[in-house]
Amino acid sequence: MKNTINVARSSMPDFEEYCNEIKGLWDSRFLTNMGEKHLQLETDLKAYLGTPNITLFTNGHLALENIITALDLHGEIITSPFTFASTTHAIVRCGCTPVFCDINYDDYTIDVSRIESLITEKTSAIIPIHVYGNLCDTDGIKKIADKYDLKIIYDAAHTFGVRKNDISSANFGDASMFSFHATKVFHTIEGGAVTYSNPTLKDKLNDLKNFGIHGPENVPAIGGNAKMNEFAAAMGICNLRHIDVEIEKRSRVYSCYTELLSGISGIKLCSPQPDVKPNYAYFPVVFDEYKYSRDKVFDILAENNIIARKYFYPLTNSFECYTGRPGFNDDETPIAKFTAEHVLCLPMYADLSLEDVERICTLIIR
Ligand SMILES: *Cc1c(COP(=O)(O)O)cnc(C)c1O
Repeated sequence: MKNTINVARSSMPDFEEYCNEIKGLWDSRFLTNMGEKHLQLETDLKAYLGTPNITLFTNGHLALENIITALDLHGEIITSPFTFASTTHAIVRCGCTPVFCDINYDDYTIDVSRIESLITEKTSAIIPIHVYGNLCDTDGIKKIADKYDLKIIYDAAHTFGVRKNDISSANFGDASMFSFHATKVFHTIEGGAVTYSNPTLKDKLNDLKNFGIHGPENVPAIGGNAKMNEFAAAMGICNLRHIDVEIEKRSRVYSCYTELLSGISGIKLCSPQPDVKPNYAYFPVVFDEYKYSRDKVFDILAENNIIARKYFYPLTNSFECYTGRPGFNDDETPIAKFTAEHVLCLPMYADLSLEDVERICTLIIR
């Protein structure tokens, strides 16, 4: 629909810039299989994220499934249900059992004080989520993982470019998964990556994303297919050139929302995290004691062609596909449940005009 404001809008490089980037592909005819663009994007991302090891994938979800497989995780994995479908589905699809931990009321990441009571002999890992760009308590999680010899994989889909005390969000835990989906702060149309501390994982991940093929007559590993193609990598190379401007533009939108909505009774905004350089990925608002319910605000905006998103709602531990499975019960994660029922992510993208932000806020406040 014309004039509709959606919750997200993909940023794109200039048409000419992208055309220049892909021009060579018409000569080389090398369109995928870890070509020049793929390798360059890996190098560029290592430099930007400040991380020693990275492997690109078709999308963030397959990046997560493949790092779960590469780390040979089994049994139970502690995670939280306040996330995108991908995190929980990846754990289940890899044959593991998610064990759901509740979240913090303030930053929506996993409540570290509750993790230890969920650990059993079957626990092999923790997969926490850096929700909305808020970093988890990485020190607290590391302490527990060290004590019980557990692996840590962060779902870092929301924290591209986020740093804490100048440590990149790509460098916490054993590994981190990033999504480069079109709606994310940095994107390759579809795409994703894993960053990791142990360099020997590189060969394993390459096997998993390319059929385990080492040569035309040599297939020593069982792998699937999850390679990022050259057109996607080229989009990433272009977008990465403009990532600082992207984040700066988002910060203006973010500040405008913050100014107009803070101090209003019954509305809870995210507080900045100390020592963290944010990426302004989302603008979540929790209507915890507001005069209108979250659903009412959603409807008012929708009547005005503004499409906000109930994100994350429903919780993954109440998804229809998991009905009847033991442990999938949103009553056991009450803070996550409360948040899911009261949160709304407002439109947030680099090119959202400040007039539109004002209009959105006026509709909410009036
Ligand atoms: C986007 C997202 C994913 C999945 O990434 P895709 O690239 O879409 O496969 C996983 N987890 C979270 C928290 C996300 O926001």
